[in-house]
Amino acid sequence: MQLVFDGHNDVLLRLWKHAAAGIDPLREFGEGTTSGHIDAPRAQAGGLGGGLCAIYIPSGDLVLKAPDANGHYVTPMAAPLERAPSLDIALDMAAIALRLDRAGLWRLCRSTADIREAMVAGTFAAVLHMEGCEAIDRDLAALETFHAAGLRSLGPVWSRHNIFGHGVPFAYPMSPDTGPGLTEAGFDLVRACDRLGIAIDLAHITEQGFWDVARTSDKPLIVSHSNAHALTPVARNLTDRQMDAVRESAGVVGLNYATTMLRPDGAENADTALTLMVAHIRYMVERMGIDCVALGSDYDGATIPAAIGDAAGQQALVGALATDGFSEEELAKLCRDNWLRVLARAWHEN
Ligand SMILES: [Zn+2]
Repeated sequence: MQLVFDGHNDVLLRLWKHAAAGIDPLREFGEGTTSGHIDAPRAQAGGLGGGLCAIYIPSGDLVLKAPDANGHYVTPMAAPLERAPSLDIALDMAAIALRLDRAGLWRLCRSTADIREAMVAGTFAAVLHMEGCEAIDRDLAALETFHAAGLRSLGPVWSRHNIFGHGVPFAYPMSPDTGPGLTEAGFDLVRACDRLGIAIDLAHITEQGFWDVARTSDKPLIVSHSNAHALTPVARNLTDRQMDAVRESAGVVGLNYATTMLRPDGAENADTALTLMVAHIRYMVERMGIDCVALGSDYDGATIPAAIGDAAGQQALVGALATDGFSEEELAKLCRDNWLRVLARAWHEN
């Protein structure tokens, strides 16, 4: 068993949606459920020690485009969101994260020491992340408040445009170079994150946005849940050049378990072999080295291989990587140590 610290999940989105339907999030997470991918019992069973938990504002108008006869699709970009309702939802999700912490059902971690302690204690180590900054104002006042509430990571954009920058659409096949990058407000946001000690996540941003952050931030480049474009040419995956930049910055890329981002045909199909996950890990390790690759499941946010199923099946991937020849030391890096090293840098711990 290798304890896993994972780069991206949407469990807060699931709990928030269910709370609106009258289901108590503390009970659902603490006692467990058959819905979605993560709760305390399943995380415990699968050795999922913790991860970055996203505050994400859903796009009501987004309908994923069905593939054509060749498997090709281009989903139109979701419309930009208004700030006030986005802030309401972000506050609701942050409150769920804080209540889970207060109830001792997970630990809301603000340092890598917090993460290590929680994982040793067998408590899920949650790090609060914001996936798309629609809840943040131009003057970054809300950024201060969310940071004080425990926010330690953010992606300036989801696959949507906002005042800080531009995201990539869900499309296959497509280059990630789909338009402009950061706005002036986006550059200010990046500099503020570097100052405050908030990790900047480049999943979902355009290739131009990736390069804008690379030339502005002095921290390791982080892409929490993306794979190799050379193997699965969706706009959300990374080109070889982008991976070279991650390596040069001693950053990290987390493997996304979404079958649309793993399969050569880009299809959403749970009947997807673990060998495809291993192939993306191998490719990224060959390109960036063993220190720059990690896991970024997208639990509760995507259709993942049935061979994993949910957090309880986490060790199936670890086993497949071991079978492929990764040593215990390499597995420790892939499963948690690389995330902890990069977060320590982003959070000014060293
Ligand atoms: Zn995402």
